[in-house]
Amino acid sequence: MESKKYVYLFKEGNASMRNLLGGKGANLAEMTNLGIPVPQGFTVTTEACNRYHDDGGKIAPEIMEEILEKLSQLEEITGKKFGNNEDPLLVSVRSGARVSMPGMMDTILNLGMNDVSVQAVAKLTNNPRFAYDSYRRFIQMFSDVVMGIDKRLFEDKIDDIKQEKGIKYDNELTTEDLQRLVSEFKEVYKKEQGVDFPQDPKDQLVEAIEAVFKSWDNPRAIVYRRLNDIPGTWGTAVNVQQMVFGNKGDTSGTGVAFSRNPATGEKKIYGEYLMNAQGEDVVAGIRTPQPIAKLAGQNPTLYKQFEGIVNTLENHYKDMQDMEFTIEEGKLYFLQTRNGKRTAQAALKVATDLVDEGMLTKEEAILKVEPKQLDSLLHPTFSAEDLKKAELIAKGLPASPGAACGKIAFTADEAKERANNGEKVVLVRLETSPEDIEGMIAAQGILTVRGGMTSHAAVVARGMGTCCVAGCGELRVSDEKRTVEVNGKVYGAEDWISIDGSTGNVYAGAVKTVLPEISGHFATFMSWADKIRKLQVRTNADTPRDAKQAVTFGAEGVGLCRTEHMFFAEDRIKAVREMIVSKTVEQREKALAKILPMQKQDFIGIYEALEGRPVTIRFLDPPLHEFLPTAEEDIRNLAAEMNLTFDELKATIDELHEFNPMMGHRGCRLAVSYPEIAKMQTRAVIEAAIDVRNNKGYNIIPEIMIPLVGEIKELQYVKKKVVDTVNEVMKENNVKFDYHIGTMIEIPRAAITADEIAKEAEFFSFGTNDLTQMTFGFSRDDAAKFLKDYYEKKIYEQDPFAKLDQKGVGQLIKIAAEKGRTTRPDIHLGICGEHGGDPSSIEFCHRIGLNYVSCSPFRVPAARLAAAQAQVNFPRE
Ligand code: PEP
Ligand code: MG
Repeated sequence: MESKKYVYLFKEGNASMRNLLGGKGANLAEMTNLGIPVPQGFTVTTEACNRYHDDGGKIAPEIMEEILEKLSQLEEITGKKFGNNEDPLLVSVRSGARVSMPGMMDTILNLGMNDVSVQAVAKLTNNPRFAYDSYRRFIQMFSDVVMGIDKRLFEDKIDDIKQEKGIKYDNELTTEDLQRLVSEFKEVYKKEQGVDFPQDPKDQLVEAIEAVFKSWDNPRAIVYRRLNDIPGTWGTAVNVQQMVFGNKGDTSGTGVAFSRNPATGEKKIYGEYLMNAQGEDVVAGIRTPQPIAKLAGQNPTLYKQFEGIVNTLENHYKDMQDMEFTIEEGKLYFLQTRNGKRTAQAALKVATDLVDEGMLTKEEAILKVEPKQLDSLLHPTFSAEDLKKAELIAKGLPASPGAACGKIAFTADEAKERANNGEKVVLVRLETSPEDIEGMIAAQGILTVRGGMTSHAAVVARGMGTCCVAGCGELRVSDEKRTVEVNGKVYGAEDWISIDGSTGNVYAGAVKTVLPEISGHFATFMSWADKIRKLQVRTNADTPRDAKQAVTFGAEGVGLCRTEHMFFAEDRIKAVREMIVSKTVEQREKALAKILPMQKQDFIGIYEALEGRPVTIRFLDPPLHEFLPTAEEDIRNLAAEMNLTFDELKATIDELHEFNPMMGHRGCRLAVSYPEIAKMQTRAVIEAAIDVRNNKGYNIIPEIMIPLVGEIKELQYVKKKVVDTVNEVMKENNVKFDYHIGTMIEIPRAAITADEIAKEAEFFSFGTNDLTQMTFGFSRDDAAKFLKDYYEKKIYEQDPFAKLDQKGVGQLIKIAAEKGRTTRPDIHLGICGEHGGDPSSIEFCHRIGLNYVSCSPFRVPAARLAAAQAQVNFPRE
């Protein structure tokens, strides 16, 4: 058997090898094949990463051998040697997973620098300052990234020199200063590590590759993977690439560019660069870069070549590209290209433009927009009226669109904690870094003092669809004092600010936000998605307002109306409580009589909002603990209302206490004990339908859904009460029309006996919230507390309540769908658990042939797109 190949030179790979070489590696190989000037190198595969972890954190000898072999081939290709005293090879070592995970894993630059090569570089470039600057940067980066030595120890040394000499910026440091730093940094390293800084570049390389492998499992990468549905089994590749230098003086520079504008989608090269700088200077946002258009004026020949390559890459990949480039003493190199991250607005414009330009088919274009991204289109903007009155205090870059307001949080941890406690916060930072990810997720918006449009904050916020203003240099932020100062005014942690990520404006106070209008590219794009998809998309809505909202987002019906949710309002909950604590049928009927008109009015409202589209009404399913009164005053009021003493009512409430309410007296179990509840609800459903049929002319065909069924006889019992009541109400009103009775499949026993259940049920709706809870035996209320340990220990990668567990819960759904169809071939099948709005779960529902998914109103557009993508990827009839 031929042994496995773990390391590929760039010229040995191509774009189709993304899974093995990672996105970056595959694209570097492809660019090499296209003849684009790429500094050469090699890629250690994702399989080597997995093998490293499988082998308990060791690089296997045969992989090591391959690395060293490719290294000597690279030396041949470049004509340079590692650690050489004349023309040494220096490399960068970067991670590159199958999909890009910006900033999540580690990068090491200038590797190969040591006491010998630094002198050679100084001589060769006639630029000792550059040589020592590169060396000190390498020691710093290697110590931090590879060895985990605290960055501050190095920053302090730099600060000491700056203070001694009274200078402010790094670029004011002289060669001698940098030489001193090199030796001080080496001392820090020795003190921290107990050994000298490694001088052999091969040792440096092996350590660096291991560090990248390890970084696949660092906490921020794990969080990012969970957020973006990236399996831990993919691993990361490592790219070892010859260094080219953008900091060799004024004819050198470095930058990032997009082939179209990543914020708006406009067809125009967009980017930023800095002369005499290294890549990290641009991305870290420490110096503010120049717009790319300036390069055209500065060096027209080079810009022309640059523009040519950008166009070649976009045409080749048929998508907007995000590229890194470096100019080394007047020569242009491309260091990487990838499909660019973009705002939802830009994604829609680019996708529709690429179809108009004949570059993509509609099916291909549908795959170019992330369903989750559409969320951001539905996010708020500031109310124009309130904005007129708002106090503008500063202006930064419009880094990620949307509007947000909140109180000021100064660190990511603080943002996370305060958001968990229900506060709305805006995270205000000098700049963000990858470890801030959780705080960035928790915040309403992100505001940074430093950084350009391609800074960490900007890129990550755009990806998440969170509003972000970056590079707002007027602010003075003090983490210690927990203040933001601007124009002589000071704001603290209790002050509100509002930020507009579409204009870059920052306002004092809380400015009211409103939802955006959807039109133009969105409508065109979504109409393509609607034509392609086979799954219908309904919504979970309990109020006419939510239902109407969902219809404007494209919902084709209501898949779940949770009737108990109609009773949370202050004036209604009393009647529900009265019903729950009733001890006699008379008491209960009295309470139900109060509820009936409200319930009927609710159903009329929803039927009207849906204008004849189907509505599934789920009968009462209140976990009792959510409804019982607990405050003494509430109990007293209710007792008075029911002519009971406080103690009598209190005793009833105590009796109703359940140790595990989620598995308690809820769902159809309530209707089994108290059929009068199901009768009242049926009356409300049918009377409302009659009313809307008569008054509005819609052909309402009510769909009544009985929840939490586990045994056919339960369903038979409740169904009989429903059917009798329907007949009674229709007779009273002298009408007859169709209606359907179905059930939820949310108990494993129901899934397994679905062939029996389908004898009674005309439709199934999979209640995957409960089905997940009951299948895993995880309480849906409590699991989050311990699931984080499971993510850390890589037992589970995803929250099974957010993303359908296809192996277990999914199997139950599949079994139930198949069994249901054997009894009733035309049974209507849908899903209404939270998973109905999750793209990968939607794909699963499509593949097993469900008829519809139902999700919350704001997730409807994403669900429509996910359903279309599922059809493109897995066509079905
Ligand atoms: C479910 O269990 O998935 C469901 C939709 O019902 P609920 O969340 O109301 O229990
Ligand atoms: Mg349920």
